[in-house]
Amino acid sequence: MPEVLKAPLVVEFPFTRSLGPVQSAFLTGLRERVVLGVRTGDGRVLVPPVEYDPVTAEEIRDLTEVAPTGTVTTWAWNHSPRRGQPLDTPFAWVLVRLDGADTALLHALDAPGPDTVHTGMRVRVRWAAERTGAITDIACFEPYDGDPTSPGDHTGEFEEPVTGIVAPARLDYTYSPGRAQSDYIAALSGRRTVGERCPSCRKVYVPPRGACPTCGVATSEQVEVGPRGTVTTFCIVNIKARNLDIEVPYVYGHIALDGADLALHGRIAGIPNDEVRMGLRVEPVWTEGARYPDHYRPTGEPDADYDTYKELL
Ligand SMILES: [Zn+2]
Repeated sequence: MPEVLKAPLVVEFPFTRSLGPVQSAFLTGLRERVVLGVRTGDGRVLVPPVEYDPVTAEEIRDLTEVAPTGTVTTWAWNHSPRRGQPLDTPFAWVLVRLDGADTALLHALDAPGPDTVHTGMRVRVRWAAERTGAITDIACFEPYDGDPTSPGDHTGEFEEPVTGIVAPARLDYTYSPGRAQSDYIAALSGRRTVGERCPSCRKVYVPPRGACPTCGVATSEQVEVGPRGTVTTFCIVNIKARNLDIEVPYVYGHIALDGADLALHGRIAGIPNDEVRMGLRVEPVWTEGARYPDHYRPTGEPDADYDTYKELL
């Protein structure tokens, strides 16, 4: 049994969003150590605030300040905090209904252990030392045994309001391509392209996914395809991607390798861009140490008949 591969994978990007009037006031308020909610038509106060009443869908803009103290309505203990979470020691995720609010806010509670946390316990905001207009301006909540506090009367008008935020999004995980693609990748290391044939419809999938998406049955019969193939369709890329050192413009195409019933994609070079065409016969060009072909180039054969690849478009 060949080894099933796995590898760490990180997908990350900065997510930029504008805030609108309500979220802008809420986050600017946090920067100024003020927690704002929004009052609905029937007098409830929602924290965190939303722009539309979740019951009536009515637009709501009536900002109102709530207290920085509140009551835990439910919680869960986090034994092993991960990168980017509010605290780097074990803590409780809590829903806190701040004094003056009718709904609860999700945040972290700094507590010595799960036996010190309970529903109904009193907590207060611990402000971050440096605040920028983000939910992280509340560093966390902490247990509080003082008197109830009254909210201030801020109405949400601020100098230099925060109008947008950049939220870094990051997925950090282990990816396993499974048996079929592990075999495919292992074969590529020997510069061979191996697909799998569906036992029902006889189509050869490259790269193989381990099952035929049309018939819904597992595939296991390995079939070597290529190395030559036919360009089924292509585009000219004029936008330079980050971390990609290919000069634009270049041609990227779908290539049906001989024997395959699915086109894979690759860069096409060794021919002027405006001479690339459907039906062009190509072969892979490998560079030393590469795990997949660098690009495909013309073989010089006559173009393939449209009928031979029309089902692969
Ligand atoms: Zn099938």
